[in-house]
Amino acid sequence: MNNQEISEITLRAKETYSSTLKENLVLITDAYKEDRLKSQGCLVCYYIHGERFGGAAMTHSKCSMCNKSLTFGTTCVDEVCSDCAALFGLCKICGGDIDMKQRKKGWVPHEKI
Ligand SMILES: [Zn+2]
Ligand SMILES: [Zn+2]
Repeated sequence: MNNQEISEITLRAKETYSSTLKENLVLITDAYKEDRLKSQGCLVCYYIHGERFGGAAMTHSKCSMCNKSLTFGTTCVDEVCSDCAALFGLCKICGGDIDMKQRKKGWVPHEKI
């Protein structure tokens, strides 16, 4: 390797470092919290999985909480409906806690209603 090559490799490493840092900062600081909560997604679904890709086919599923029928314009379906996500503080995409807090043992969602 010559100096030129080393310097190119270093530049690439620096670029990767700063772009990764930027992405992680967004995640760590929950930079788009307002929008994230509006779209009812947890940190992982919103920042890490980002946009969900799926085939453009009408897909039907049921809300894991209330069993309501849900229809989506893609093959990516939400785990719970918006109402249940809001009511139980869940991520509607994966069904986990919106703040990623562990629920207490024996927590029965319907007791909250
Ligand atoms: Zn529901
Ligand atoms: Zn989620």
